[in-house]
Amino acid sequence: MAFLEIDNVCKSFGPVDVLKNISLDVEEGGFLVLVGPSGCGKSTLLNTIAGLEGLTTGEIRIDGDVIDDLPPAERNIAMVFQSYALYPNMNVGQNIAFGLEMRGMPKAERDAKVQEVAKTLQIEALLERRPGQLSGGQRQRVAMGRALVRNPKLFLFDEPLSNLDAKLRVDMRTEIKRMHQTFGTTIVYVTHDQIEAMTLGTKIAVLKGGIVQQYGTPAEIYNNPSNLFVADFMGSPA
Ligand code: ADP
Ligand code: MG
Repeated sequence: MAFLEIDNVCKSFGPVDVLKNISLDVEEGGFLVLVGPSGCGKSTLLNTIAGLEGLTTGEIRIDGDVIDDLPPAERNIAMVFQSYALYPNMNVGQNIAFGLEMRGMPKAERDAKVQEVAKTLQIEALLERRPGQLSGGQRQRVAMGRALVRNPKLFLFDEPLSNLDAKLRVDMRTEIKRMHQTFGTTIVYVTHDQIEAMTLGTKIAVLKGGIVQQYGTPAEIYNNPSNLFVADFMGSPA
């Protein structure tokens, strides 16, 4: 049994079918990248996993348990978006610790947690700064730190790097990869960038028009694209 199972998921907004019979699964510690052109349903799929959108039909399971009726807060899933939504009046340390404080974790334990995560993300020197005093890449690290300290059982990323310049995007890619290896977190990661998909994913699902065109390892998809769309989109050799 896979850790995360997306089983025949359909989602419509009114008459518009946005997700059409999506079935995918992710092993514990796996890194699934959802890739596809703008409007193909990537964010919608992520939102259904997070519980921000309900399903029309189908089922999503974690560790074999159906999660569809759980409110987002009870899913133990962390989501990192393209816009970081940090609290502007709190410093970096307070931003990271906020969720722990809400859970009632004692201060000493909180501080230790924040230090550990800040070290991994190389933002120890920034803990006293406010978000307004950080670069885009640093803010993205803080947003990741805030998600990481909560020990989520699943990490969702929605195009986290698309606001960053090219050089920083490459650095952050490495960072995310290292974070995945260090913490062994299970990740579902959305991007429209095929290079990001190829370098990060243990599995890739290529979407178009709410349909999974192909699901496999980066090598399988690149070397044996199942149709012209996939070949073209992934830049496979002709
Ligand atoms: P992607 O993230 O791949 O760019 P989205 O999942 O955001 O795509 O959107 C997929 C399709 O669903 C788009 O056509 C979008 O307009 C539509 N859509 C997304 N959210 C809503 C909504 N809340 N109401 C109506 N249509 C929506
Ligand atoms: Mg999107």
